[in-house]
Amino acid sequence: MTESQIAENFHRIREEIKAAELKSGRKEGSVRLCAVSKFHPVDAVKSALKANQFLFGENRVQEAYGKFNELNDRRAELHIIGQLQSNKVKKAVEIASCIQSVDRESLLEEIEKQAAKLEKNICIFFEYHTAEDSKSGYGDEDSLFVSLENFSMGLYPHIMPVGLMTMAPFSQDEKLVRQSFVKLRNLKETVNQKFSNLPITELSMGMSGDFSLAIEEGSTMVRVGTALFGERDYP
Ligand SMILES: *Cc1c(COP(=O)(O)O)cnc(C)c1O
Repeated sequence: MTESQIAENFHRIREEIKAAELKSGRKEGSVRLCAVSKFHPVDAVKSALKANQFLFGENRVQEAYGKFNELNDRRAELHIIGQLQSNKVKKAVEIASCIQSVDRESLLEEIEKQAAKLEKNICIFFEYHTAEDSKSGYGDEDSLFVSLENFSMGLYPHIMPVGLMTMAPFSQDEKLVRQSFVKLRNLKETVNQKFSNLPITELSMGMSGDFSLAIEEGSTMVRVGTALFGERDYP
């Protein structure tokens, strides 16, 4: 995709985000756009930067590490959004400001260990499983609450938990997709009541096919790839 096509896409998606914000009585500019650049070359990221996009999402640490080190632009902020193996945490903590795909307690232990070594603070989202299609995320509230309890007790001083993340089912059935978003929003309410000392304010939900719905249901961050950068070439 050319630089001007990418610029056009950003313009269009920003307009759609604004429309969804207004439609649902949300404040304009209250939803952050995370541009998912996975499987797209570093030139796509450069085009996005020219369109004043500074937040990016990547699934694979190895790919992101190469791409963002090559880019070497301090304005770019990176979130890891894909399932993360423990042996990739060190590199993830090095390059990312945030890990959105935290799905288990042992991952938090490893993130804390690596962040402490690098003397770096990192933010995280808890990924929660709200729909059958996706395999990732905490699968039940109890295991999520154990992790939150550990934060409350101060176990992870280098990690700031900021929100919840989910993937809705890939379905044309709007009701089904909404259900998934509503589930996450309700879970956030529960978490805020139970753990009022923790700053869990963000809801990362909504992708190319469903971000307008997600915004209507309370999303504060949408993760959009295909609608900005085009179809991905999977190797
Ligand atoms: C790939 C991916 C996205 C972006 O998906 P699109 O449909 O291309 O917008 C968002 N979130 C996660 C977790 C992803 O893996």
